[in-house]
Amino acid sequence: MLAIGMVRGKPGVHAFDLPRPDIRQPDEVLVRVKTAGVDGTDFNMVRHNLQDIAEGRNEIVMGHEMVGVVEAAGSEVKSVAPGDTVVMTVRRGCGICQPCLHNQSDMCMTGLYTERGIHKRDGFFTEFVVDQEQYIIKVPADLAKLAVFTEPLSIAEKGIEQIRVIQSRLPWACEHPNHTFLSPDWGKCKTALVLGAGPLGILATALLRLADVYTYVADIVPEDSPKVHLVKHMGANYIDARSKTPKELVEFCCSPPGNLDIIFEASGAAATAIELINYMSRSSIYVMTGIPREELVMKVDAARLVRQIVRYNQVIVGSVNSNRSHFEMSLKDIPAINSRFGGMLEEMITHSFKLKDYERIFAPTDQKHIKTVIEVEPGE
Ligand SMILES: [Zn+2]
Ligand SMILES: [Zn+2]
Repeated sequence: MLAIGMVRGKPGVHAFDLPRPDIRQPDEVLVRVKTAGVDGTDFNMVRHNLQDIAEGRNEIVMGHEMVGVVEAAGSEVKSVAPGDTVVMTVRRGCGICQPCLHNQSDMCMTGLYTERGIHKRDGFFTEFVVDQEQYIIKVPADLAKLAVFTEPLSIAEKGIEQIRVIQSRLPWACEHPNHTFLSPDWGKCKTALVLGAGPLGILATALLRLADVYTYVADIVPEDSPKVHLVKHMGANYIDARSKTPKELVEFCCSPPGNLDIIFEASGAAATAIELINYMSRSSIYVMTGIPREELVMKVDAARLVRQIVRYNQVIVGSVNSNRSHFEMSLKDIPAINSRFGGMLEEMITHSFKLKDYERIFAPTDQKHIKTVIEVEPGE
């Protein structure tokens, strides 16, 4: 079967042939890939030649976002059956630490995990994949088309979950007892700034707006960009960061509400990400999800920064990957997002290709690009 990925010692993206995988254990499931999503990590792997191939292998199949249909299931599999639409998680635990032993490998303590399509394990840019039932989640039949957003949305779900859990330290966030961070109405009376209007920034904005958080999104695209259209469609405010310093960005978000409760970093723009810490509000939280790739050395007033973080009770938290529970949250929120912000998920898919178009998939994208998907054809 056709597979798309990286080949040891050869920069760029390549096509190669792999044998079709088989079920070998009673808890395994064979899945036919229908749609795979391409994201910033995939583009960065190709652009920066980030090869992370398992020892003893010459290639890695890329792709960590997918929707598929169960082709066959092992004798012990209970939660899915042939014909079911499913999605698969990305990370496979180290098998040693407590988080991994409890299917929370997104919080792995040893770093000895693998990741499908990214880190030492084959991904989903191919026709068939096999995995254990615990990593496979059944998708309601009517979500088959939009379920390709389950994985990217799960990253936003985990980031927002971290914010809510950590900020539950503030039982008096505002004067309304039902607006505390763990209550269903948590987003009311709160303001957030999202950095980056790529797919992750847009999906984080969708979750924030779904919770009625007053949201600003900053990026470096012009006002007539399709990304800005989506941001405004969700009732968020767009800020063109090209015309504002980080200080001006935060001042803009703090007026009129006065406090910026949440900063959600989804751009990987290291200088802005660090500089913004200087302007965090008191008792606020800053979650970082973007991963800068190049080296950047900069000068900071360390004493001022530490003084401020201490005096203002501030939290800066990193959030990476996601686990099964976040995939389940995604599958609940996809219909909610799509009905509240009519058709926005469909609108995010700006580019669609076949597997065999792999060279075009990774060609430089145009200004209108938001999200690329690959429709996998049988026997391609
Ligand atoms: Zn672990
Ligand atoms: Zn309130």
